[in-house]
Amino acid sequence: AVDLGKISPDYIRSFLFESKLMPSTWIVIRIDGCHFHRFCEVHEFEKPNDERALNLMNSCAVAVLQEFQDVIFSYGVSDEYSFVLKKDSKFCQRQASNIVSVIVSFFSSTYVMNWKSFFQQKELKYPPSFDGRAICYPSTEILRDYLSWRQVDCHINNQYNTCFWALVKSGKSKSEAQHILKGTQTREKNEILAQFGIDYNSSSVIFRQGSSVFREEGILIQEDGESTEKLGNKVTVEHCNIIEQSFWKAHPTILA
Ligand code: ATP
Ligand code: ATP
Ligand code: MG
Ligand code: MG
Ligand code: MG
Ligand code: MG
Repeated sequence: AVDLGKISPDYIRSFLFESKLMPSTWIVIRIDGCHFHRFCEVHEFEKPNDERALNLMNSCAVAVLQEFQDVIFSYGVSDEYSFVLKKDSKFCQRQASNIVSVIVSFFSSTYVMNWKSFFQQKELKYPPSFDGRAICYPSTEILRDYLSWRQVDCHINNQYNTCFWALVKSGKSKSEAQHILKGTQTREKNEILAQFGIDYNSSSVIFRQGSSVFREEGILIQEDGESTEKLGNKVTVEHCNIIEQSFWKAHPTILA
């Protein structure tokens, strides 16, 4: 017979794997759609960019900011989103696996719930999933470098995809298009686009800049008769340059 008496809670707990994120650092949770290459084929996303799918992703990010007060900013592109938690956040005692799982499951179930609002005519064929990871950034400067890197990636991928799909839509096979684009620089890509009469810079800003989601600041809240400037809970989506200083100057409270 099994002697359950010798199994003490301390003994069981001693196997627990702790993964506390470093204190006083910006926490970024980056989630990314699993096999969205297939997901967007099955659901016939418009190529290179399906705006409905991007707006659906954005609606989920807005829901995350409304649900989790410690998430102060997020940036999304394609099938990914990066959520920034405030530096001194104590959310889930800063346990990486807890934070990641809570955000990723909330995002995924919201995606399924909101699907019909963005794809009225299209049935959701199977449950989408997202992977997630936690990263700590020890300074605001490095956090901004991270966000800039994601926005640069958005630009590079979007420019490539715009060229790729212009070639495919003109009758080239996918492997021919890939071959033509291999090793090309920005200038050559712009020339290819020009041949098809596409001006990259006039394409939709949501495709070129991605989406930034944050709380509207400067909402006056009365507290004990005193008025204090506080972050409101109205969440905004903007498609803007977050690499330049000007965005952060215009929204000084986000990374305060
Ligand atoms: P993994 O599971 O490794 O992330 P993946 O197939 O999701 O694999 P990604 O590198 O994440 O690979 O690429 C996402 C894919 O989904 C790309 O092919 C991208 O073009 C496509 N995609 C995502 N969002 C959209 C959208 N709004 N419109 C069109 N295509 C999209
Ligand atoms: P947390 O977010 O910390 O997990 P919680 O409210 O989910 O908070 P748990 O300790 O996980 O707290 O407890 C789950 C709660 O759900 C308990 O109150 C449990 O009785 C209830 N519950 C779960 N499954 C069932 C079920 N099948 N039938 C009735 N009650 C259930
Ligand atoms: Mg992935
Ligand atoms: Mg993916
Ligand atoms: Mg991706
Ligand atoms: Mg729990």
